[in-house]
Amino acid sequence: MVKTFGKLADGREVLLFAIENGRVRAEVTDYGASLVSVLVDGVDVCLGCDDVRGYERNGAYLGAVVGRNANRMSDAGFMLNGQLVKLPANEGKNNLHSGPDSWGWRMWKLVKHTENSLTLAIHSPDGDQGFTGNADVTVTYTIEDNGLTIRYRAVSDKDTAFNLTNHAYFNLFGQDKPERAMDQELMIPAEAFCPDDDANIPTGELRSVEGTPFDFRSFKSIGRDIGMDYEPLHLQGGYDHNFVNNQAVCAVMRNPENGLTMTVTTDLPGVQLYAGNFLDNSGKGGVYYGKRSGVALETQYFPDSVNHPEWDQPFVKAGEVMETVTRYAFE
Ligand code: BGC
Repeated sequence: MVKTFGKLADGREVLLFAIENGRVRAEVTDYGASLVSVLVDGVDVCLGCDDVRGYERNGAYLGAVVGRNANRMSDAGFMLNGQLVKLPANEGKNNLHSGPDSWGWRMWKLVKHTENSLTLAIHSPDGDQGFTGNADVTVTYTIEDNGLTIRYRAVSDKDTAFNLTNHAYFNLFGQDKPERAMDQELMIPAEAFCPDDDANIPTGELRSVEGTPFDFRSFKSIGRDIGMDYEPLHLQGGYDHNFVNNQAVCAVMRNPENGLTMTVTTDLPGVQLYAGNFLDNSGKGGVYYGKRSGVALETQYFPDSVNHPEWDQPFVKAGEVMETVTRYAFE
């Protein structure tokens, strides 16, 4: 099914595509290739807006595909083949989510829509956001079995970086129960996380979670330790950190009341747990999403990995195809 999702301020028409298989149903808009809803047994567990106007240049990146480089980049630049690649600084001297011309705020092109799957594409010209190479990127959302799979495919005609993620916020109590989001229980198998400096840039340390509020190796509510007296929590105003994935399942979140579980699987080396510390957004059905009303689990290369050669690198050679998959399965 496809229907209108309203018009942008400049009059452009935006569409909303539904994909489903009975138990799981999702909606995605061609504005930002953004995930707008995920219904599991009729409960909408994904934060979003009723109309595209709510998404226009929205700094919360609700459900958006973020590229070419998700998360933060120190000094808004990096070296590639001996040349400085410079992006616009949009957070102090650093770059967040590739800057002020976000892919999350652009129209993507329809490639294919079937009952259970949607492929959208974006062409990113040489110099776009400061990056090298003419790039073509597709994202495919597919409802398979009990979940949603997101597949990215990216290629460029010059060497470049691709660190793509989806910025959906989830609340397994339902998007209309923002006050319950921190009661969701989370399990992250990671043994280590990335502490950040006061500008949210990783210091380079991979710190053991042992004995810290970042130990999610057994289920606990996200709210349990978020207010603990621990420097990384003070600096970032709560959880807003990358975890070092040590297995394909990078996170499992659940609603402790009805047992609904979301298992996040990825081939990427990191996952950013962002507890919505700065959320301040009008949401679907008149619901207000304030601070900590949803939880994003953004699979990714580590933040600022372009400046950390010792970490897994998001670089591709000219013509090399980058493919990556993240899956959210519901039980
Ligand atoms: C970042 C947060 C930021 C949010 C919205 C997340 O990916 O980690 O620090 O506030 O995006 O921009």
